[in-house]
Amino acid sequence: MKRATRAPAPGSDPERTLILAIDGIPYDVFADGQREGRFGGFFPASRMLAPFPSLTDVSFTALLRTAPSAAYEDRYYDREAGEVRGGLGDRIVGDYAELAPFHAAFDWEPPPTWGGAVYLVPGRVAEAELIAAAKFIRENDDAPELVVYLGSTDGLGHEEGRDALRGHLERIDDVLTVLLAEGVGSRRVVLLSDHGMSDGGSRRFDLERALAAGGYRLAERIDGPADVVVPAFGLIGSIQLYTRCGEEEAVARALVAAEGVDFAAWIEGDGVRALDAAGSADPLDRPGDRYPDLRRRVAAGLRYPTPYPANLFVSLRTGWHYGLALFEPFVSLAGTHGAATHDQSVGFVASNVDRMPPSLDAAEVYPWLGLSRAPVPLPSFRPPCPAD
Ligand SMILES: [Zn+2]
Repeated sequence: MKRATRAPAPGSDPERTLILAIDGIPYDVFADGQREGRFGGFFPASRMLAPFPSLTDVSFTALLRTAPSAAYEDRYYDREAGEVRGGLGDRIVGDYAELAPFHAAFDWEPPPTWGGAVYLVPGRVAEAELIAAAKFIRENDDAPELVVYLGSTDGLGHEEGRDALRGHLERIDDVLTVLLAEGVGSRRVVLLSDHGMSDGGSRRFDLERALAAGGYRLAERIDGPADVVVPAFGLIGSIQLYTRCGEEEAVARALVAAEGVDFAAWIEGDGVRALDAAGSADPLDRPGDRYPDLRRRVAAGLRYPTPYPANLFVSLRTGWHYGLALFEPFVSLAGTHGAATHDQSVGFVASNVDRMPPSLDAAEVYPWLGLSRAPVPLPSFRPPCPAD
């Protein structure tokens, strides 16, 4: 028997909800789609300001109000154990419990083994993922709450850029239109992304060289003052560094002297210190249209309550990235995210029942999702370098 379909009234509070989280879709790309008549059943999208660094794990933790991920992005350094952990191995065995608890909030997500293929044939993986997600939504029509994650769009954006994302959003709209007509439309439906994506190619930042110029070296563990650990993974626009406590400023000076760094920031005492190449008196005093809510986002990002916090953060200039060298030969970057800039930081959120404020911080999105599960209170931040 066919369900009688009626879209919920604007401002109403439907009992059932569907969240479709689409990785790495910039606000501008979604808003363009809406202007062209796509996603007509939804209110105009709001800007979703990702935390800094504008990375998947950090952002979904805020959006879905889960326990913090161990890593900012898949790999982290455990200072006490002197060991880098996480990464592809943990992904493939699906050991997300400590690494990235937000994954537990997804009722459906692509199998972790698809992760590699997305960089080889991103368009095909994205299509397969969309078909599988739609099947799951149909088969779970009775479930009051569905949180579905499309992850391959991140790889698609990195590899093929914004035009590919535009094309894929059209496919998502087509699939969604059918689902809505079949009955899904009686739910609250919220579409959102976790961060933006830069537009254009990018060069690898030479971190080893920049560190060497300051007398530092990239190491697997911190044994001496010159050792700096960077648990790199994907090719992204920010770098999270673990230095010996007290070396932050000197390492930051070495890094901002190299081409490609926008600014470096770290915690000192109760405050935030930052440096940029120009030697600005206040490197975080930047125009809000290009660096939305920069000071607050950086201060919050430095205090992301992972048990394994980095103690120095770099935001790269547009057109630069850093990450696991292993990935470089497979990936021709058409875009990236992670930096504090508007294009990399601003995702979207759109609902079929609520007109949301034009701009929301990631942490303000949860009440609009219609989820009954209680948000996990964030643990307090344990500074990586306790003040002595
Ligand atoms: Zn992401």
